[in-house]
Amino acid sequence: MNVLVINCGSSSLKYQLINSDTEAVLAKGLCERIGIDGRLVYKKAGGEKEITEAPMPTHKEAIQMVLDALTNEKTGAIKSLKEVDAIGHRVVHGGEKFASSAVITDEMIKAVEECNDLAPLHNPANLIGIRVCSELMPGVPQVGVFDTAFHQTMPPKAYLYGLPLDYYKNYKIRRYGFHGTSHSFVSKRAVEFLGLDKENSKVIVCHLGNGSSVSAVVNGKCIDTSMGMTPLEGLIMGTRSGSIDPAIMEFIAKKENLDIAGVMDVLNKKSGLYGMSGLSSDMRDLEDAAAEGNVDAKNAREALGYGIAKYVGGYVAAMNGVDAIVFTAGIGENDNLVREDVCSYLGYLGISIDKEINKKRGEEIVISTPDSKVKVAVIPTNEELAICRETVALV
Ligand code: ADP
Repeated sequence: MNVLVINCGSSSLKYQLINSDTEAVLAKGLCERIGIDGRLVYKKAGGEKEITEAPMPTHKEAIQMVLDALTNEKTGAIKSLKEVDAIGHRVVHGGEKFASSAVITDEMIKAVEECNDLAPLHNPANLIGIRVCSELMPGVPQVGVFDTAFHQTMPPKAYLYGLPLDYYKNYKIRRYGFHGTSHSFVSKRAVEFLGLDKENSKVIVCHLGNGSSVSAVVNGKCIDTSMGMTPLEGLIMGTRSGSIDPAIMEFIAKKENLDIAGVMDVLNKKSGLYGMSGLSSDMRDLEDAAAEGNVDAKNAREALGYGIAKYVGGYVAAMNGVDAIVFTAGIGENDNLVREDVCSYLGYLGISIDKEINKKRGEEIVISTPDSKVKVAVIPTNEELAICRETVALV
C-alpha cells in the first residue's frame, strides 16, 4: 500500500509518499514559508527536484499543492489520490496519554489537544496537518506517530524530576524524551544488524542532529533518555544549551535585563554550538574552523563529545552493562571525529574502534574492532520509514 507521511511544522511541512511493500520512496519534498509566501519542493523518485513558488496562506493550500504535485499528469508519482491508502502524521507530544502510535479519531484528536501546552509550538501545527488531510482526503485512514511514545516505558526514577510531586500530579511536569521514532527505529535495527538477542540486549542510541538526544534501551524498551519535559534538556545542541544550572536563568535575566521569554530565547536559539563558537550551529562549519585553529569551535566540539561520553557512561551504569553503542542522525552518521572522540573516553569498557572504517560516512557500518568488548555502529535513521511502518501496522 502507499502511505503519505506528513511532518507538519508551524510554517513548513515535510512529506514522503512511500510504497510500504517495497519501502521505496515514490516522491518526497517540503513546503516552506507557509503563511508568509509559499514554496513547494517536489521530487519524484528518479526525477529532478522541482521548485514552485506559490501563495500558501495556510496549511490547507500547502497540502493541496502537495496532493496536486503527487497526482500531476506529467510528473506525479501516482495517477489519483485513490492510490493513497493511508496517511501517517508525526506528532511531537503525546504526553502520558500515548505510549504507542494511534489511529486518528475525534477522541484521539481531543487527547492530543490536551497535550498542547506541553509542546505549544509543535502540537497545534501537527493537528492542523491532521485536520486538513481529513478535509481533503476524507475516508483515508490516518495514524499519529508520537516523538514521545517510545520513551513511555521509562520508570518513575528516570522520569521524575527532583521537584515538588504536586507539579507532576497537577501539571504532568516530568521527563518525556523526544526523537522516540528514531530511537525506536535505530535500536531495533541495531539488534538485527549486530545480531544481538532482542530479549537480552542493552543498547545506547546517540541521535546527534540539530537536536540531539541519547537513550538507553533494554530488551527493546527505553529506560532513560537525555531530553526532558521539552527538547531543551540534555546534550549541547545546534542552538540549544542543553542542561545547565537552572540558577543561571535568573542570573542572565538580571545581567542582560531579560524577561523569562528572553532567557528562553537565548537558551533555545542562541546557545549550543552556535553560542559557544560564535560562528555557526552547523558541525561542518565548526569542524573546518577547528581545523584552522579556531579555539572556540574546538572547545564547542570537544564539549559535545565529552557530554555524549558522560551520558553513555551514565547509561552503562543505569543498565549495568551495554552490548552496543549506536550513532545516528546528521552528526552521528557523518562526523567521524565526534564518534572517535566519544569512543576515546570509553576504553574502560573494553571499547576499541577501527579509525579507518570509522571514516566512512552515512552508511550502516560497525566501527568497533572485532576484539572490542562492546559493539559500536553507525545506523542511519529513517523517521519517515518508521512512521510508514507504524501506520501500516495500525491500519
Ligand atoms: P535535524 O535535527 O534538523 O534533523 P540532522 O539530523 O539533519 O538535523 O543533522 C544536522 C547536523 O548534522 C548539522 O549539525 C550538520 O552540520 C551535521 N552534518 C551533516 N552532514 C555532516 C557531515 N558530513 N559532517 C559533519 N556534520 C554533518
